Amino acid sequence: FEAKRLRNEVALYDPELEADRLSHLSLLSELEAAIAQGQLRQVLQPKRRLRDGRITGAEALVRWQHPLRGWLPPAEFVPFAESTGRIRQITQWMLRRAIATLATWCAQGRDVAIAVNISTLDLQDGQLPARIEALLQAAGVPARLLQLELTETGLMAGSQDPIHVLQSLSRLGVRLAIDDFGTGQSSLAYLQRLPVHELKIDRSFVDGVDRDAKRQALLGSIITLGHGLGLEVTAEGVETEAELAVLHRLGCDLVQGYWVGKPLPLAHFDALLAPALACESA
Ligand code: C2E
Ligand code: MG
Ligand code: MG
Ligand code: MG
Repeated sequence: FEAKRLRNEVALYDPELEADRLSHLSLLSELEAAIAQGQLRQVLQPKRRLRDGRITGAEALVRWQHPLRGWLPPAEFVPFAESTGRIRQITQWMLRRAIATLATWCAQGRDVAIAVNISTLDLQDGQLPARIEALLQAAGVPARLLQLELTETGLMAGSQDPIHVLQSLSRLGVRLAIDDFGTGQSSLAYLQRLPVHELKIDRSFVDGVDRDAKRQALLGSIITLGHGLGLEVTAEGVETEAELAVLHRLGCDLVQGYWVGKPLPLAHFDALLAPALACESA
């Protein structure tokens, strides 16, 4: 015990650890300020349906407009937000923003969905379905226009099985997608139990698929698997016309990637959309 106490005291006064602790604390307070003071931004990346070429939805991606460091991508703060629990406030902000945009589109008669990325911690929150339901109701947005993207790792990592939260979300009519499919370690048996509607194939399977027969076999098998389970299949990270042609041939349903469109602020995204279509209630 003495030795342990001694080590702790030494650690307490270790200047390097102290510096780490301070930078952790300052990043935490900066992130809290970012959430409270409106420094977060939402960009929208189009998803195109191959059958008719229509843009049927968008994925909402977070950015941080940092007062000193500029425009920060999620890789620079989402993992930190996840490890400190602040991701819940970010998710909440992203959901509000997405639902506000959906309400505007509905009022304009546009039938376009938005997908929001959800973390492990969000799925551990039993109140999530009720909060989403309240947001949708207050905005008058049909639940089917909201999608949630979950990663395989995110689904497996939590301390509680998220199945009940997923079932409640699904009952609401919210659509669920497995993100980065193929990179995590979810078992296919687990996939069968989940009330998901869509598989998003990770871009590592798409990259250069026109020039690699093995990759093409893998991609084709994943698409067949998704369809066999009754799921809609999206390919992520489509960057060339040649990759797109392969996806067309393999019967992929939706594509997303720089070839289709980069993530854009709402005003620019709006310009991509076709003239208003009917938006029926769920
Ligand atoms: P993700 O959900 O798989 O999102 C797709 C990422 O791939 C985005 O990066 C997007 O900009 C990028 N991307 C799209 N098309 C292409 C392409 O053709 N080529 C390449 N090389 N990249 C492409 P981004 O915005 O940097 O986001 C990275 C990850 O951060 C996301 O991966 C997601 O896991 C996470 N993330 C983003 N926004 C949120 C959020 O609001 N909440 C949570 N929890 N995570 C988020
Ligand atoms: Mg995603
Ligand atoms: Mg992804
Ligand atoms: Mg990805």
